Amino acid sequence: MGKHPVIGLLGGGQLGRMLQEAASPLNVELAILDAAGSPAKQICENAKHVSGSFNDPAKIRELAARVDVLTVEIEHVNADVLEEIATKGVSVGAGRPLKKVPCHPSWETIRLIQDKYLQKEHFLRAGIPVAPQMAIEGEALTAAALQAVGDKYGFPFMLKARKGSYDGRGNFQVREPADFDEAIRSMGKLSLYAEKFQPFVKELSVMVVRTEDDDGKLRDVHPYPAVETVHEDSICTKVFLPPRGVQVEASEEARKVASNVIRTLKGRGVYAVEMFVLQDGNIVVNEVAPRPHNSGHLFTEAVPYMSQFKAQLCAILDIFPGKVTLQPRVESAIMLNILGGAAEDSHDSLVDLASLSYDKDMDVYIHLYGKASKPGRKIGHITVTSASAQVSGLEQLAAPLTLEVDKIRS
Ligand code: ATP
Ligand code: MG
Ligand code: MG
Repeated sequence: MGKHPVIGLLGGGQLGRMLQEAASPLNVELAILDAAGSPAKQICENAKHVSGSFNDPAKIRELAARVDVLTVEIEHVNADVLEEIATKGVSVGAGRPLKKVPCHPSWETIRLIQDKYLQKEHFLRAGIPVAPQMAIEGEALTAAALQAVGDKYGFPFMLKARKGSYDGRGNFQVREPADFDEAIRSMGKLSLYAEKFQPFVKELSVMVVRTEDDDGKLRDVHPYPAVETVHEDSICTKVFLPPRGVQVEASEEARKVASNVIRTLKGRGVYAVEMFVLQDGNIVVNEVAPRPHNSGHLFTEAVPYMSQFKAQLCAILDIFPGKVTLQPRVESAIMLNILGGAAEDSHDSLVDLASLSYDKDMDVYIHLYGKASKPGRKIGHITVTSASAQVSGLEQLAAPLTLEVDKIRS
């Protein structure tokens, strides 16, 4: 890698946009593969950008030829092409040798994580606690197959698409046999697996930074503090730091589990580990995202010296400070997602309110992604932090904002 390596990014959505925001002060160059005018491209001109789909092999090769290292802001990319580019290389002109371009996280990790069933089989083999799951074999989903799951796991159970899902699109909760028809109608054409329902009391997420030497040998894992994620209709709506009503020991256990999870994967970068906390305090790993994540947004303000985006860049470039503790500089923080509502301007009053909000005990930060609004689409987020108030106090201070957030969804 040269002194000023160029990072090629597959996907130019909001995560790419915030990665660019972290890259600018470091003078790190990002070349982005996505449609022209995508959120990340809106904020940085670069002749090395490639216009097109991050799933198009030819476009991925075109990007790779222009950069020193590849990374992703989304895991649903073509892992075979990433493998080819990293192991065989990519053409950089007639008569010249092929150039190998590494990918961080590794294409192997991306491929594994893409299939949620295989991902969890891998964790199971590594001794990580995951929900019992079974693959659903055969071309067509049948009521008999669903009944067999119900017999084994009881009701409700989760029917999940193995690949391509996000924000709960690709999940179906089967509450009773009467749901079979609907499950078959809406999920029948996908490659599926079933998961035992986890009656969790909390959902936690831990962002983990993984550093490696040039030979791929693990240097270290650095977990951020655990956060509480709140999902409504399977989409993350709110994040709390520290988690509300969770013992410090449980949060520390979550960090340990998350670190163990990330030790089993390959490649540098930040990862999100989503977990369930059960009634008895046990932790079950739900899934991993091999990239910056919605649950890590609040660290931009809470850990201002090392946002998850800066961590991603530093890890990829192998300039991550090994001694960093990732301790917050605030007492508490809350992140509220701005989701598109029924009308294109449904979120305007929330943004206005956030712009005007001020309290001596609460700092308010707005992030808008430059995306057109659609119902349920993540178009921005608001982070509030407090240097003085505990998370319950901050929750009260932020209540008018939360009310407005909930209003958009109703
Ligand atoms: P993401 O946007 O995080 O990638 P996804 O589409 O991959 O989401 P999951 O993380 O599998 O979906 O599930 C979304 C949410 O649905 C979880 O955060 C949790 O609230 C709920 N959920 C998923 N699996 C289970 C389960 N086995 N038991 C109970 N609730 C579950
Ligand atoms: Mg997922
Ligand atoms: Mg998830």
